[in-house]
Amino acid sequence: MTAANDVHIDNKFLLPSLSAYRRSPIRAWLRIARDTIRGPHEGHKGIQARQEARLRDLVNYARAHSAYYRDHYAGLPEYPHLEEIPPVTKPALIARFDEWVTDDRVKLSDVEAFIADVERVGMPFADQYAVWTTSGTTGKRGIFLHDPVAMSVYTMLLLVRAHALTPGGVLRALGKHLRIAAVVATGGHFAGVSMVSMVQHRFPRLARGVRTFSIMTPLPHLVEDLNAFNPAILAGYPTAIEVLAEEANQGRLRIRPTLIVVGAEVLTPRARSKIEHTFNTRVFNQYAASEFLHGIAFDCGQGWLHVNSDWLILEPIQADGTPTPPGQPSDTVLLTNLANRVQPIIRYDLGDSITTHPDPCACGSPFPAIQVEGRHNDTLRFPNASGHSIAILPLALGTVIEKTPGVQRFQAYQTQDNELMIRLETRSDADPDAVWQHVHQRVQWFFTENGIRSVHVQRASEPPQRDLHSQKYRTVWVARLKGR
Ligand SMILES: [Zn+2]
Repeated sequence: MTAANDVHIDNKFLLPSLSAYRRSPIRAWLRIARDTIRGPHEGHKGIQARQEARLRDLVNYARAHSAYYRDHYAGLPEYPHLEEIPPVTKPALIARFDEWVTDDRVKLSDVEAFIADVERVGMPFADQYAVWTTSGTTGKRGIFLHDPVAMSVYTMLLLVRAHALTPGGVLRALGKHLRIAAVVATGGHFAGVSMVSMVQHRFPRLARGVRTFSIMTPLPHLVEDLNAFNPAILAGYPTAIEVLAEEANQGRLRIRPTLIVVGAEVLTPRARSKIEHTFNTRVFNQYAASEFLHGIAFDCGQGWLHVNSDWLILEPIQADGTPTPPGQPSDTVLLTNLANRVQPIIRYDLGDSITTHPDPCACGSPFPAIQVEGRHNDTLRFPNASGHSIAILPLALGTVIEKTPGVQRFQAYQTQDNELMIRLETRSDADPDAVWQHVHQRVQWFFTENGIRSVHVQRASEPPQRDLHSQKYRTVWVARLKGR
């Protein structure tokens, strides 16, 4: 098969090469910026042409530079169609990490040593790659590297397409010196905190007003710190912002942000209306993942997320691998990251459930509109010594468990007011009982820090598994409470 059999491939749509970027980052930036601005003006056809050119280029690159993909694609035609390309999973890629990456100098042992050092959060690995691990909502740890060209694409998408602030909003935000509070998981190389830290290292003047706040901080202290900082923009996980909205309703949190940005978890319509109503401002939602960072899809203000499908491909599929029709929730979704070469992500099982808008969106965007249902975790509530209900964020609890050495995969679910069950899968080189003891100790410590003393933390006899009814993989949730 030759290129002539397929769609005409236009080289002008291809990414600047990594060497071209090194020679002139400014020129590479301008090229990416121009294309990201122009793409949507060329409509569906222009977006499709970019997607096809970039996919073909990425598949060629992966075959030439990644031993994993060379094996995986053995027997495929030279120019395969998207649906012919075999999907990949996170466990399979992580198991052959050194062969997956396209830079011979990147070794898993070195990356693990790098991410074990919390002092190096936000610093480049091997002088050029952004690196982060997943935080506690995915259940299984991944390690992701992004090259400078990919980072430029993510940044450009945010600058060009995330129309979050209105002109009036910009003025009000400037009135608060553009102070941005990011409520994120800290204590590890997670995407959110790494991004903030990276910006702070590179642009110290610009980032003076940006501060991270840990979701691990007990709520009363977090509220106090946010009151003192008085941010113009509040960013974080929907579950964390929803709990903060409750604090504002109770009169304890007194900030008046101009804009609230959420991502990385599902934003339910109920949570959105509660947050918007409480803070009397707009919530900007984005679909983000460690595999593509911010900008898989952006909120359009009509309740839909638009996929940046010139820089990535999202394919909603059924459990048997066939495409999910528009209007129906998928079993999972395959992601292809068209911007990143160091660690190619091509038809990668992301595990989320999405629904595609069956019709063009009312906002007029040429990008496909989706809603995300997957990976929905619950905020847990436990009584403290005086009987008050204390909210425990799923991501905070998940991070405590996932950061315990030896943990491979976990699930935690609340079965009673004072009982938490944990399903644990440990790494093959770890002693399961010792890992459990450590998890138990850390979770108890975390509850004590939050003023909760009487929760029975129990190890479930069964391993982590998908929900029997929905087939979704959740990590932290409230099970049907016994005796209710
Ligand atoms: Zn729209």
